[in-house]
Amino acid sequence: MLNLHRLVFRAGTILLMLALMPLSRAQAQGGIEVQNATVAVSFGQSITFSARIKSPLAIQQASLLFRGVNEMVTRVETVQVAQDGSVSFTYDASLNVFPPFSEIVFWFQATLADQQTYTSTPITFFYNDNRFPWREMTQGNVIVHWYAGDDAFGAAALDSAGAGMLAMNEFIPTSLDAPINIYIYSNISDLQATLMLGGEEWVGGHANPELGVVLVAVAPGASQSIELETKIPHELAHVMLYRSLGDKYKMQPAWLLEGIASTMELYPNPDYARAMEIASKNDSLLNFSDLCVSFPSDAGNAFLAYAQSESFVTYIRETYGTSGLGRLTSAYGEGFPCELGATNALGTPLSQLEARWRETVLGQNVLGVAARNLSPFFLLMLLVLVVPIWGAFGIFIERRKRAAQFK
Ligand SMILES: [Zn+2]
Repeated sequence: MLNLHRLVFRAGTILLMLALMPLSRAQAQGGIEVQNATVAVSFGQSITFSARIKSPLAIQQASLLFRGVNEMVTRVETVQVAQDGSVSFTYDASLNVFPPFSEIVFWFQATLADQQTYTSTPITFFYNDNRFPWREMTQGNVIVHWYAGDDAFGAAALDSAGAGMLAMNEFIPTSLDAPINIYIYSNISDLQATLMLGGEEWVGGHANPELGVVLVAVAPGASQSIELETKIPHELAHVMLYRSLGDKYKMQPAWLLEGIASTMELYPNPDYARAMEIASKNDSLLNFSDLCVSFPSDAGNAFLAYAQSESFVTYIRETYGTSGLGRLTSAYGEGFPCELGATNALGTPLSQLEARWRETVLGQNVLGVAARNLSPFFLLMLLVLVVPIWGAFGIFIERRKRAAQFK
């Protein structure tokens, strides 16, 4: 299988890289024609747009318009037009960032001497992280990109992706047509810098499901297999879930998305069980109702949140089957709130499902859990029921004593 991979090596200078793309396909549209359009990307720093605007009449004013293809807001910049029609504009990409590897569309507008405003044909390009000499290898719809490590490293990454897609496909069959690009950075700080440049915080691997882009940090070496087979399937699962759920992806609870993605990791994290055991003993387990919108920001609780979510989703899948998990994503996709989505899909509210998970998986005493949850109610029961019962019991003992006396 591996000899079918297309192997491409792109040499590149690391610093001050300019990806110069000739984009001279623009055609005349209503009075202006854009020629020799180029985009020079210096990732995380600047994007320089250059072109020559040709028009039959004098240009009075011209603007450059651009946005990410998935964005709603268009940036508009006035450009100075030279005698020969050439224009150039440098955008500060360190301030208002575009996501790494996203697609950007741009076009020009010009007001001519006839007071009419004309628009050019849009042109698109990719805002790729061009600071590294990326190599790439393709199999099916998966393209892995890496810059450290040999051919075997790229092949191992592709194998991890294939295994991850297979595992995920058992759960949610998705179309394998649209490409998925996996970028493997060789260390966390390279990835971290990229995500910061892309306006994202470091969370330990990253997927941009809408773009079909996965970013992970894996160093070539002894632990590369475990890391590839953990991180790539996890992030791929996010992309495939998004492709299956569409707009409903964003309505899913965080514990459900992260739980499903974590169960796709080919090596279970050995520290998860230990973290839950300690938290269970210390009574510091997180409530899933608090993991619906997002995960905790501090590293310790975030780790526990992943551990619990992985275990909880496994429990749900073992109890209600894959179809139960499917019903759960459907219910949340319909807009059910966190507690009631579980009721709708599985007949059990989230809090009760959690109590059962605590009993079954962690061996907690559910009655104790219930008593803690219901403590004000229990206090009331004690006053209303138990005290009179105790009194009645006293009377009963008294009567038996008397009965014994008179026997
Ligand atoms: Zn995740």
